[in-house]
Amino acid sequence: NRRDGLAAYTADPYAYKAVLFNNDKAVIIEDMFPKSSIHLLVLPKSERKVLHPFDAFEDPKLLANIKVEVERAKKMVASELRRKYGQFSKSEQPRIAARDADDAPDDLPEGRDWMKEIITGVHAVPSMNHVHVHVLSRDMVNECLKRSAHYNSFTTSFLVPLEKFPLAKDDPVREIGYGPWHAVDLICWRCKQNFGNKMSKFKVHLAEEHDKWKRE
Ligand code: 5GP
Ligand code: ZN
Repeated sequence: NRRDGLAAYTADPYAYKAVLFNNDKAVIIEDMFPKSSIHLLVLPKSERKVLHPFDAFEDPKLLANIKVEVERAKKMVASELRRKYGQFSKSEQPRIAARDADDAPDDLPEGRDWMKEIITGVHAVPSMNHVHVHVLSRDMVNECLKRSAHYNSFTTSFLVPLEKFPLAKDDPVREIGYGPWHAVDLICWRCKQNFGNKMSKFKVHLAEEHDKWKRE
């Protein structure tokens, strides 16, 4: 079954190049059809891994463990963003300044905090059966991002952040998948411009925004 495609990674982590990290709690893998320039998935190894995430995260231990691993994945994405798009980290700044100037300025520019440029969460209605948490850079620029639903699934409340769990019994997000959530307009995450349903025009705009964002 295509929907069971994520099972293999936790069952046999060493068999897959896509597995970037593995411990007794989880694996961190590269998404095979990434929707952003960097897109990872965190897969728990718990007995409860073949449940809807809303049910799986009722288990406080699983939830606590997965939060730790999602934080780890965020750091991996942040360091990859720094590697790709540059800018010095805070700790590197003083050394550089000390080398280049006799009088280091008092107010050194802070290194960019790439942790703030990352989206995480689960889809309200996942397409894959095994629990997985998305951890991706917020640019939404990738060849695999083809349909407006791809974009909207990460930029609307269809993406449920881990902080929401355990989910309240009456949380409206429980019903979201049954509504027309993906039919909403395409709104740029960066400048909020509305592109309606003009996906190809929007993708050109996203590429321009990506270019400005990475040099911000
Ligand atoms: P969902 O919509 O279920 O939250 O997202 C499932 C994710 O799994 C998608 O982002 C999709 O690109 C990814 N995916 C689907 N099949 C595979 C696979 O076989 N391997 C990997 N690494 N990712 C997959
Ligand atoms: Zn924009």
